[in-house]
Amino acid sequence: MSIYRTHILLPIDEGTVLAGVFEVKRRLENELKTRKLDKEIKVLESGTVGLVGKGVILTVYPDRMYYFQVKENDVARIIDEHLLKGRVVAGLAHAPVADMATAATAEKSAKVGLTREQRRVVLDKTWTVDPQNINEVLAAGGYRALEKILGDSLSPEQVIEEVKKSGLRGRGGAGFPTGMKWEFTRKAQSSAGRTATGTEKYIICNADEGEPGTFKDRLILEGDPHKLIEAMTIAAYAIGAGRGYVYIRGEYELSIERMQAAIDQAREFNLLGANILETDFSFDLQIKKGAGAYVCGEETALIESLEGKRGNPRVKPPYPVSHGLWQKPTAVNNVETLANIPAIISNGAGWFRNIGTDKCPGTKVFTILGHVEYPGLIETDMGTSLREIIFSFGGGIKGGKKFKAALLGGAAGVFLPEPLLDVKMDFESLKENKAVLGSGAVLVMNEDTSIVDMLFSIAKFFAHESCGQCSPCRIGTQQILQIIYRIRQGKGLPGDPETMLNLAETMFKSSLCPLGQSLIMPIKSALEHFPEEFKVNNNNEVNP
Ligand code: SF4
Repeated sequence: MSIYRTHILLPIDEGTVLAGVFEVKRRLENELKTRKLDKEIKVLESGTVGLVGKGVILTVYPDRMYYFQVKENDVARIIDEHLLKGRVVAGLAHAPVADMATAATAEKSAKVGLTREQRRVVLDKTWTVDPQNINEVLAAGGYRALEKILGDSLSPEQVIEEVKKSGLRGRGGAGFPTGMKWEFTRKAQSSAGRTATGTEKYIICNADEGEPGTFKDRLILEGDPHKLIEAMTIAAYAIGAGRGYVYIRGEYELSIERMQAAIDQAREFNLLGANILETDFSFDLQIKKGAGAYVCGEETALIESLEGKRGNPRVKPPYPVSHGLWQKPTAVNNVETLANIPAIISNGAGWFRNIGTDKCPGTKVFTILGHVEYPGLIETDMGTSLREIIFSFGGGIKGGKKFKAALLGGAAGVFLPEPLLDVKMDFESLKENKAVLGSGAVLVMNEDTSIVDMLFSIAKFFAHESCGQCSPCRIGTQQILQIIYRIRQGKGLPGDPETMLNLAETMFKSSLCPLGQSLIMPIKSALEHFPEEFKVNNNNEVNP
């Protein structure tokens, strides 16, 4: 067996694939072979580092150095300079690797951007382990939580109790306690009259990530699909399900490919399928590709779609925990929520509670986008301030410009201005400031950004994605779009901002699902914090 002196990691995600990571990898392997270095330097694929827009990223270990925007032609120089002479390649963008610490060691730090440490619970393996190699995953601690519950014969009730004690809340946006959802599902009687612990229950992983500016679930799926399988298997054991589905957005081709490969490997290793780890417990799961409708991210619309119907949201109640897939009790959990489960089971609820805030324990994965130096994906404690996320992790505003606003939580989110930069990023603190955590997207805007333009894009998105099932949303989104369009053209009519708000309030009160109910958030916050941008000329006349 060879012992390598150096390991080179190439993070594979959709961004790096487009930038040519496989071409760089091929060139690197060929060059190393030609120079007879392939027995001492190993090239490996990993999941994402979390950076976007940095092209092909190459990480050298044990030297802990990143290179960015690497092209095929840079390979020879990296070998000559770094791998043979031990010095950093001049002229190639680089940075030292930060300690992507696990829970025990993450410290507050003045460092910014790439050199800023992160506490990684969900993303702990995404950039150090090859997600396509189950042996590596197992060596890095994968499936240990599943082994623990099946090996120590923890009862389903004990598993649910542990998740309840951890205080884990859904990371899809609503923040509902996960343990309670599992308990409701376990206790619910199947509508077919079968016992509550029968196989007529389902666990669904909602990976239909459609929120603009959000790609955390994609990178979790691409970087650590085995963690999802382990978590869903634990969830199935807890609620009494025999079958599960991962509903993945259709455009996420790499996620689908990696997830399917991981499912196949898990079956081979008896971690999925009949009599898992030689116990009485059996569970299997399959992937369902979403067809691109934003509304299918809503759990009942997703269930309708899974049943082969048009993805229209259902009237609630009843909720999926009692009447879900095929009207059977079903737990629908977001990717990030589930990705916390193995660590909670392995380390205990008390460990998890020590991270984050009292009411929102744990970490949160944020996507930082827009006018920042380092756009990308980060994981940090719940309750970290917005300022820290933008100016420390994100490296501040690009090009020395001033900060104007951040749109939190995606299109159905809230605009926050400069005076609210110190708000804590957790469910409770944001609620107190009339904001939402949503999907964890942080879209940063500099002083040159027009809030009216932003709101126009949001209104256009909602009008396009409304499924049309209920009138307030179907008609309201179109009306709001027309109003914001004419304000943008400088042809706003007296009373337009008020009418827009009125319409959004009516939609909030009378729409069937969160899509129609949430357009009020960006509208209200834009009008409240940036009223001067919506001033209409009183000389503009209403058409007769
Ligand atoms: Fe469809 Fe909109 Fe009604 Fe939701 S609120 S059901 S998206 S029309």
